Amino acid sequence: MPPVFDAGKCDGCGICDLHCPIDVIAIDEERRLAFARYSEECWHCGSCRQDCPTGAVDIVFPKKMLLV
Ligand code: SF4
Ligand code: SF4
Repeated sequence: MPPVFDAGKCDGCGICDLHCPIDVIAIDEERRLAFARYSEECWHCGSCRQDCPTGAVDIVFPKKMLLV
């Protein structure tokens, strides 16, 4: 699963986009909201969630990653 962005908390600052190592995230400038443009490429590294200043990012891990 890609990162999930809470529209009520995200202000479109772009920090998550800058910190994502593989450029999964983009910013909808009109809505001032982050979104995942290459969701299948997400590594689930957690940088976007860790660095978001408003706590707007949640990451849902695929079941197969949790069953190791
Ligand atoms: S860092 Fe947080 S507030 Fe900023 S664009 Fe990303 S999700 Fe939105
Ligand atoms: S979890 Fe990592 S790879 Fe996935 S979108 Fe966030 S920063 Fe990018």
